[in-house]
Amino acid sequence: MPDPFPPPPRVLRVAVPTPLRRLFDYRPGREAPPGGWRAGLRVRVPFGRRQVVGVVMECGERSDFPLEQLKAVEAWLDAEPLPEDWLWLCRFTARYYQHSLGDTLHQAMPVLLRQGRPLAGRMRERWQALPPPGEDDARLRRAPRQAELLAMLRQHPHGLPTQAIVAQGFSREQLLALVAKGQVARHETPLTAAEPATAGLLAEPALPLNREQAQALAAIHERLDAFHPCLLHGVTGSGKTEVYLQLIEAVVARGRQALLLVPEIGLTPQTLARFRSRFRVPVVALHSGLTDNERLDAWEAVASGRAPIVIGTRSAIFTPLARPGAIIVDEEHDGSFKQQEGLRYHARDLAVARAKHHAIPLVLGSATPSLESLYHAERGNYRHLRLTQRASRHAPARLELIDLRGRPRQGGLIPPAIEAIRETLAAGHQVLVFINRRGFAPTLACHACGWLADCDHCDARMTLHRQPAVLACHHCDKHRPVPDACPECGSADLRPLGSGTERTEETLAALFPKLPVHRIDRDSTRRRDAFEQVLGEIRRGAPCLLVGTQMLAKGHHLPHVTLVVVVNADAGLYASDFRALEHSAQLLVQVAGRAGRASHPGRVLVQTLHTDDPHLRLLAGRGYDALAEQLLAERRAAALPPFRFLALLRLESPREETATALGREAAAMLRQWNAGHAPDVSCLGPVPAPMERRQNRYHVQLMLSAGRRSQLHAACARLTAWLEACPEARRVRWSLDVDPQTLS
Ligand code: ADP
Ligand code: ZN
Ligand code: ZN
Repeated sequence: MPDPFPPPPRVLRVAVPTPLRRLFDYRPGREAPPGGWRAGLRVRVPFGRRQVVGVVMECGERSDFPLEQLKAVEAWLDAEPLPEDWLWLCRFTARYYQHSLGDTLHQAMPVLLRQGRPLAGRMRERWQALPPPGEDDARLRRAPRQAELLAMLRQHPHGLPTQAIVAQGFSREQLLALVAKGQVARHETPLTAAEPATAGLLAEPALPLNREQAQALAAIHERLDAFHPCLLHGVTGSGKTEVYLQLIEAVVARGRQALLLVPEIGLTPQTLARFRSRFRVPVVALHSGLTDNERLDAWEAVASGRAPIVIGTRSAIFTPLARPGAIIVDEEHDGSFKQQEGLRYHARDLAVARAKHHAIPLVLGSATPSLESLYHAERGNYRHLRLTQRASRHAPARLELIDLRGRPRQGGLIPPAIEAIRETLAAGHQVLVFINRRGFAPTLACHACGWLADCDHCDARMTLHRQPAVLACHHCDKHRPVPDACPECGSADLRPLGSGTERTEETLAALFPKLPVHRIDRDSTRRRDAFEQVLGEIRRGAPCLLVGTQMLAKGHHLPHVTLVVVVNADAGLYASDFRALEHSAQLLVQVAGRAGRASHPGRVLVQTLHTDDPHLRLLAGRGYDALAEQLLAERRAAALPPFRFLALLRLESPREETATALGREAAAMLRQWNAGHAPDVSCLGPVPAPMERRQNRYHVQLMLSAGRRSQLHAACARLTAWLEACPEARRVRWSLDVDPQTLS
């Protein structure tokens, strides 16, 4: 018989939030948690001169240090371990990305848990409509949202928890206002209490699927109890979302949970509304607008299994699931799934690992899949499901290339584009002008001596803004006033060079003075609801002009836009980054997908200096899939991903020589080590980063490339261990990026 009261372990190995890639040994404190010491419990421990929240990862008897020298755990914070699947994912992530486990756990938990807030014993607020008084409350006539909220609560005689109410788009303030008016009562119940069962899963019927959608759904349904990765490759507007909705319905009907990841730009109130109006069960949304409390509530609701559907951006991949049923990644090619600092994970790739671990279906959806996912589909690793028909009658518009050379430009636009805009507006439709640069002009130039407004801190030009007037560096965020005269030669002949969104907006406003011009970029939408307001106006359908960056280009349903003009398609064509072409083709297709989504066919004009560029011609002539084939062949020839795996070591220092010297030493060490241990790994560099100086720091990089992942990982582990032990590395900021999305 096992001892029911085993003696406490002598050593606890704790992951603490530090960049160091190791666990730290502690003695258990005097008081053990009621269930005994186990892996997965949060503890408060002394670390250096601080107190930190760590997670016990192992219980043991031995330490490399004398036991009496170990510090004791200050306090235990959880009686029950954190969720098993979440711990597994954090361990996997730390190993895969060669990141410290302590920091991975820290990043992956809600802020309040990082701060040591208890998870158990939380109380939940419930709100219940009080019996209606004899007459209507007149005050509610002036508060229509509160009246709606009250009507909604009256349909739930047992009351509802805050989360379910917020999930319907109401706020806590509105609840409190109703309490103040005596219409609603607030109760507290323990968080673990089960929700009274709701009748029926669907609040509105599912759409009848077209043949392709039905086939795709049937293919995913074939095996709901096994790892079953599918690439749902469907043109924009082909009804991928409807397939997700019906898959989620099936998953929830089986008592399981579904996790849907969407790009940052895709988690709009419209998207959420679409899911919330379909399902009667709570749909938890995880986005940057939540308070810390709401985030912990959401985490707990999903971890406990109470919330069956969760939709979120990148970091939502770290939501624990009590009963995982399916993971869906919408717009799987989107760059926002990769975190570009700290823990550099790719949420799509973690979704694959997670679905495999849980043995559940995985759906990667996109009109323009990443070359990685296409490659997996071609090799049969993923099931390739295609949707070629749009629900609206019109096929996505083809790209028409128009030649910029030798033609006068106004705000970046040439006469044939302006003419097409005029015709479209005259027909009563809307026009979207896409330009991937915010500000007035990419820079300011002196026409007397050729001076350009360079940033003092970066190898970059400063962007000219007019609203307000300022020169700004988009790399380090430094601002300076616009000079009246050239700082070099004193000439007053300073002119903006090229066009950004502000300049195109100004030009269009002058050309079409009677129509509204809406500019949508990061500057014009700083206020949180500004973007939603403009979108609402655009959807009303009156003729207007939209000028925007990729904020506008992706995801949004703009039914009245029938003409899209791309001001300049050339940025990605000759960029040095190996993914630049792939990404700019995806963006062009997404932008083009905004045209003609409803009852009128669309047209897409693409201005370029390179009408003969073979890649651009292929994209315009035969579409994204043909270009992707070509790019895959080129990647194979160049031994680049997905045919080889990469890792990038970035080094930065205020002194160029310091970073380069460390890079050289690391490369020498690695080449020697690889020869004996990982002969498949090659090491390139150190070389200066494409933009070497940023914020007055010099950036140098070392690239590792391998045909086999296991060897790449072995080499990366060796490299990080070496750097952690290397005294010179303390003077250099370094980071390792496994599967980098860009080499900048
Ligand atoms: P995607 O996610 O592929 O861009 P959506 O799912 O947003 O496409 O669908 C585009 C439009 O087509 C939406 O307005 C949607 O309601 C409609 N739609 C999708 N599937 C169907 C269907 N089976 N029958 C009718 N309309 C559909
Ligand atoms: Zn000058
Ligand atoms: Zn700068």
